[in-house]
Amino acid sequence: MKFGGTSIGSAREILRVVDLVKKEPQKKVVVVSAMSGVTDKLNSIANRIANLPSTVVEKEVEKFHSEILAFHSSTVRDVIPNNPRLQDETLNGITELADKLKITLLGVGYLEDLSSKSLDYILSLGERFSVRIVSGALRSNGVNSLHLTGYEAGIITDSCFGCARPLHSKIKDAIPDKLKPLIDSGKTPVVTGYIAADEKGRITTLGRGGSDFTASLLGRYLGASEVQIWTDVDGILTTDPKIIPNAKLISRISYVEAMDLAYFGAKVIHSKMIEPAMVADIPVRIKNTFNPGCGGTLIVSKQEKSDSIVKAVTIAKNVAILNLKGVGMAETPNIAGKVFTLLGDHNINIIMISGSSESNLSFVIKRDNINRAIEVLNSRFTGNGIRDIELVEDVCIITVVGVGMHGTKGIAAKIFETVAEADVNIIMIAQGSSEVNISFMVPENDGEKTLKALHRKFIECG
Ligand code: ADP
Ligand code: ASP
Ligand code: MG
Repeated sequence: MKFGGTSIGSAREILRVVDLVKKEPQKKVVVVSAMSGVTDKLNSIANRIANLPSTVVEKEVEKFHSEILAFHSSTVRDVIPNNPRLQDETLNGITELADKLKITLLGVGYLEDLSSKSLDYILSLGERFSVRIVSGALRSNGVNSLHLTGYEAGIITDSCFGCARPLHSKIKDAIPDKLKPLIDSGKTPVVTGYIAADEKGRITTLGRGGSDFTASLLGRYLGASEVQIWTDVDGILTTDPKIIPNAKLISRISYVEAMDLAYFGAKVIHSKMIEPAMVADIPVRIKNTFNPGCGGTLIVSKQEKSDSIVKAVTIAKNVAILNLKGVGMAETPNIAGKVFTLLGDHNINIIMISGSSESNLSFVIKRDNINRAIEVLNSRFTGNGIRDIELVEDVCIITVVGVGMHGTKGIAAKIFETVAEADVNIIMIAQGSSEVNISFMVPENDGEKTLKALHRKFIECG
């Protein structure tokens, strides 16, 4: 049972989570995110403090330390009101962590140096606070619980700080070795989502939103009967309800469709979480913490066509197109392979490839990666095949997903007709050979308008 940040956003919500955990009759592991907004706050103080004059570092760190300590401590008092010993024990744990945070932030501030390793350490504190609180709340309500970090639960990763990858050959035994004895002795472990450690025990993170991935890794290697993702919406909907409030619930969807949706912007689940569940054929259930009576969404292997050919539409922002040009590219064998290998070696993920001609190669990356990508491409290829690197920033990706599109003639034409009727220009198109999705780029300003037009045409009007 994985609970996201909003599901444990305050004492009231945490007590709701305690009820849900108590109601689940099966043996279970609980995974939690940081309390709502905490990871963002840690991220912004770390980046800010690294760029402040040293004269104000101490004051700023002191202020942040007392705010974060007060916030978590008052939650502890509210969720453990009647057990002074347990309350004290939990408060001491929180204070110790807050002190570690303070020391690390002071180091970052004085040295004006925020490495990705230090940032991961700082970001990990959110979940390390929250597991103590949720586990304390469970104990205070009669559940035999204990808290663990992802590493203590057996998740060992490589040393790619900020986007660490699990070492499957190690964790396949480490996870059951660490967790099974606890579960079998009747305990309910509460594990930090998102964070793990490398082989040297240094804290790593799995990428933002990575608590879902933690849950499916644990589910896979424990042979769970189900992975439950408890969040703040009824399940996977036909689109983001924050943009289109009348989005409808999808009660069943396949792993492949869910992965495409998540990969192209539906942040309700992290796209990386699908693979571990899929290889072990473990169903994933998305449930609403605030509406537990709703059946939610079940993600399974079977692909079922729904009445409407299109199941969902998504939007992914914060992306950019890089367009590499140069007649010399035609004479450089395997230029695409070389470009993508180089970017991969620098941990820059290619989200979408629009295809290439002999003298042109276009692909999509995250905006955060633009500077690094241009730097490495320039240093390797300038005057060596590639003449120009063109950057197109104000764009977004629209994706239409539905297994029913497979083999249905004319669906692409209908999609593009709808976009044209909305008076939106398509900049770039990509369709995977699975035909489960069609993705294309439009100007960012037209993104939501395009999403609404497609949702109206294919989902509301069927
Ligand atoms: P958590 O904190 O529980 O991990 P997230 O904020 O990461 O929750 O994900 C839940 C959010 O995902 C919802 O509040 C919703 O706005 C957003 N979302 C985007 N696309 C979809 C979609 N297709 N279906 C459901 N929710 C979506
Ligand atoms: N707390 C982390 C984040 O905000 C991980 C997560 O919520 O899944 O990205
Ligand atoms: Mg999330």
